[in-house]
Amino acid sequence: MSNRRVRVRFAPSPTGPLHMGGVRTALYNYLFAKKHGGDFILRVEDTDQTRLVSSAEQYIIDALNWCGISPDEGQSVGGNFGPYRQSDRKHLYRDYADKLIASGHAYYAFDTAEDLDRVRVMAKKAGTPNWQYNNITRSQMKNSLTLPEAETKARLEAGEPYVIRIKLPRNEEVKFEDLIRGWVSVNTNNMDDKVLFKSDGMPTYHLANIVDDHLMEISHVIRGEEWLPSAPLHILLYQYFGWESTRPQFAHLPLLLKPDGNGKLSKRDGDRLGFPVFPLQWTDPETGNISSGYREQGYFKEAFVNMLAFLGWNPGTEQELFSLNDLIESFSLERVNKAGAKYDHDKTKWFNQQYLRNYSDAQLADLLLPTLEKNQISATPAFVEGVVALIKERAYFVEDIFTEGAYLFSAPSEYDEKTLKKKWNADARAHVENLAELFANLSSFTAEDLENCFKNYLEAKETGFGKVGPGFRLAVTGKGMGPSMFEICALLGKEETLKRMQHSLEKLPA
Ligand code: GLU
Repeated sequence: MSNRRVRVRFAPSPTGPLHMGGVRTALYNYLFAKKHGGDFILRVEDTDQTRLVSSAEQYIIDALNWCGISPDEGQSVGGNFGPYRQSDRKHLYRDYADKLIASGHAYYAFDTAEDLDRVRVMAKKAGTPNWQYNNITRSQMKNSLTLPEAETKARLEAGEPYVIRIKLPRNEEVKFEDLIRGWVSVNTNNMDDKVLFKSDGMPTYHLANIVDDHLMEISHVIRGEEWLPSAPLHILLYQYFGWESTRPQFAHLPLLLKPDGNGKLSKRDGDRLGFPVFPLQWTDPETGNISSGYREQGYFKEAFVNMLAFLGWNPGTEQELFSLNDLIESFSLERVNKAGAKYDHDKTKWFNQQYLRNYSDAQLADLLLPTLEKNQISATPAFVEGVVALIKERAYFVEDIFTEGAYLFSAPSEYDEKTLKKKWNADARAHVENLAELFANLSSFTAEDLENCFKNYLEAKETGFGKVGPGFRLAVTGKGMGPSMFEICALLGKEETLKRMQHSLEKLPA
């Protein structure tokens, strides 16, 4: 890499909530910047005012903050290259469009929407379904290349609406080296004369993006593959502005693909298969519809970020668990794949489970408190920690500790039907009665004491665990399966254990 300071930007358009693919783009930008001691910039690209959604910008900021990848520069944090919202930079762009006109690389076009529609329909009838305004067709259109100079001038003076289009050369190869894809080459005959400046006085994405990347001294453009087709146009713009020596390097990231089949991962896939595609919950300001978010579904941000990092990148080793700092250290664009990355929801849950297991019991007990409060359960911290210790192996989410371990917080009001049918009989009942009697005489009630007592009982009765265990578990927990019964009873304590055993004898069929 050259000596140039690394400056990268995440440049979302605030047209709605940030999709997790967008978060991944932001993450890779962040990792790259931090790895190279550079700056990570958030630039809001809101030049298309018709698609603007008012709460989207704040959502984007909140999402980045939640992930721990806050920008170094941006509208909300400041910086020396602001403003960082394109609508606040509106005054800047016109001059650049004018420069291109003056140098012969752009022209005025007066074609109305109806004109363009008419041409498209005609072309379609003639067998060209994808008509383009390009270096051939422009000669038949209403623009400053075809109209007499005086007429162009008169139209401009009369305030007639127009756009400014780039004037692409015929049959020229545009080549650039993408840091992920290698050499990319496109012939200008396959490109169109894109609009750079619109009749509403706003630049289009293409012009604003290049002008801002230049003015903000961006060194690397790291963005989604869907922008690869625009890159040759951007390369030409750098050339026409005479900014080639400081042109950023490009890296186009692979698409996020749906878990099943082919194609880009969409919100519909998430709805269909039951997972969020947004980092945070989103409320559509128009419809009031709520879309779920990873945060609200109980994912740890560390797990979410770790999972995202692996969608398109891998460290080249077996290691899968990476903190944000580990990621910064290990990340490189060379290890980003060209091929699309399939989203795997089970893997996402697996990541969450791994992070959950890394928390101490005391931390998890703390995290569980809001859920307990919500369910009006009060328990001592030591008891909650005990529940955590018993249940955490079975949990993917903090909430699971409550749902999986609810029977520890309150005595069963229902008993598992299947176990009841299969395992509850006169013998089982007698065993529970006998055990209750033996337990009542224990002066110490640790898991070890209980296990010894239980084993002695099996020996004395010359019977096996399978004959006694299930009924015992059913009586105390109402369940057919779960963690060690001795641990459970020790946690519940003598009084509660005996109470539950007694209660089950009264409640369950004789
Ligand atoms: N505003 C574009 C977007 O919404 C930015 C693309 C780019 O990074 O150049 O993704």
